[in-house]
Formats: sequence, C-alpha cells, structure tokens
Amino acid sequence: MPVVTSKTDPSNTARIRKKALAEYNQRLLVARRGVFDLFKNIPRERLVQRIIPNANATLWNYTLNDFELSQLERDISMVIDTALETLTIIPPFGWWFAKYDEQAYRVGALQENINIRQLLSALPAAPIILDGEQLLLRPFFNENVSKEIVTSYRAISGMSERTSNRVFQTIVNGINGNRSPREIRKELTDAFGIASRDAKRIVNTEINRANNNARTATAQLYRDEFGIPTGVLHISALLSTTRASHAARHGNVYTPEQQNAWWSRNSNRINCKCSVRTVLLDDEGRVVETALQERLIKQRPFFKG
Ligand SMILES: [Zn+2]
Repeated sequence: MPVVTSKTDPSNTARIRKKALAEYNQRLLVARRGVFDLFKNIPRERLVQRIIPNANATLWNYTLNDFELSQLERDISMVIDTALETLTIIPPFGWWFAKYDEQAYRVGALQENINIRQLLSALPAAPIILDGEQLLLRPFFNENVSKEIVTSYRAISGMSERTSNRVFQTIVNGINGNRSPREIRKELTDAFGIASRDAKRIVNTEINRANNNARTATAQLYRDEFGIPTGVLHISALLSTTRASHAARHGNVYTPEQQNAWWSRNSNRINCKCSVRTVLLDDEGRVVETALQERLIKQRPFFKG
C-alpha cells in the first residue's frame, strides 16, 4: 500500500519549507537593514511651521534632487537583489534557494520510488526495480531539478522587484508628505512585512511543486521505461484552508499528465499542500491496490473547509 506519512502534510515537506522560509526571512532582514541605511543617509532638515499660536506642526524637508532620487531607486534594487541573489537574468551558480528545490525534488522522487517498489514487490513476477541511488542517476533528475530552480528563480526575482518598487514608493510618498523619519521607517517595516508574507506563499508553492513534480515524474518513468501502468492518487491535506475543489479530488486517481495539467490551471499550485502517490493500474485502468484509495475516499465527508 502506498505510504502516506502525514495526513496534514501529504507532500512531507514541512521541514524543508520551514528551513527555506527561515533563510528567506533572514535575507529579507539583511535587505531591510540595507534599506534603512540608505534612508538614514538622505539629507533632511526639520521645518517648524507655526500654524496657530502655541501649536507647532513639525514638517520634515528631505533634500533630494531628481538625480539623487533615481540613484536611491537603483540602490534599493541593488540592496534587495543582493540579499536575495536575484541580480542576474538566470539563477547564479549555487543560488541559495536551489538547495531547497533539490531537496524537495529528491525527497519526492525517493519516497515515490520506495512506494512503487513496495507495490511492485507484491506482484507475482516482480519487474525491474530501481533502487534510490539508481533513480537519482537517471537524467530526468538533474534536468527536472534545474527546471524547478529556474521557475523558483522567476518567482523570487519577481518578488524582489515588487519589494524594491514598494519600498522606493514608500520613501517617495514619505518625502512628498514631509513625514517624519520615524513614520517613514514604520512604513518601511510594513513594506517588508508584505515581503515576508509573499515569501511564505512562494516557499509553500515552490517547494510543494518541486516535490510533487518529482512524484509524477517518477510515476511516468516507471510507466514509460518499464511499461508498468501507473496512475497517481490525489491526496489533499484537508486543512481548514484547503480549497473545496482540491478536497473534492482527495482519493481520485489520474494519469500523471492529467494531474499536472490540473495543477497548472488557474492558481491551483499557489499555496497548494496537496500531494500524490503512485498507484498501479490493471489492464482496464483500475487501481490494483485499492485499500488506500478507499480509506482516502472515506475521509472526504469529514472535510470542513
Ligand atoms: Zn491543493
């Protein structure tokens, strides 16, 4: 029977996501410090305006010309891109997030391999079975990991750019509004709070995609190379945040291609905690080992999303 280690974390990537997010936030902290330093260096003077007797309104005047402003915009991008290593068009060698993509993909491929080996060992004439090491040496592994890294790089580069724009706009608005440095610093902190929430969504999406792509690719490998009919069983995390359309698939069997096509539609990948397990199919395309599927289908009515 296919192995499902955690009900609420069927992709089994919680640990990798936690570590990736911790490093992501650490890098955002470095970026924030850099932006605060840039902001601190903007020449400023305090203007005291007397509006009515005995009431002083303090306004701040920041002396930045257009050239200095565009220089500041470039410096902000540089600080944030440096912290996230998103300075180039393609991921730099040894890019920090690459190791998490690789781990997530490796865990998915190895777990699926163990799962498939178990399923096959129950058959009377045991067909060719790869051990984990042999599986990772197949060309699909490195090729697909590289693709995952490129996709993650696009997501994190985009986030880096959005953050730079938001941070720069925050400073410009503060300058134009003659607000105090304290107020502007508070707004900058808020802007980095948005970045941190963005980071969490990106980590969830990227790590689970890499892990699940490894699972469907492993199912495809056994089908295409060894002629073993495989399908994938959709396993939803059934959390309070799970979308009803995701929970409705819990326990259904699809071809790897159908499953990937569904994931690539709309925003199905975003924050998706669902996973898949390979199942063996008979000549009529029915699941050979049905115990897990039956158990999953029984869980559906208990979902309260
Ligand atoms: Zn999902």
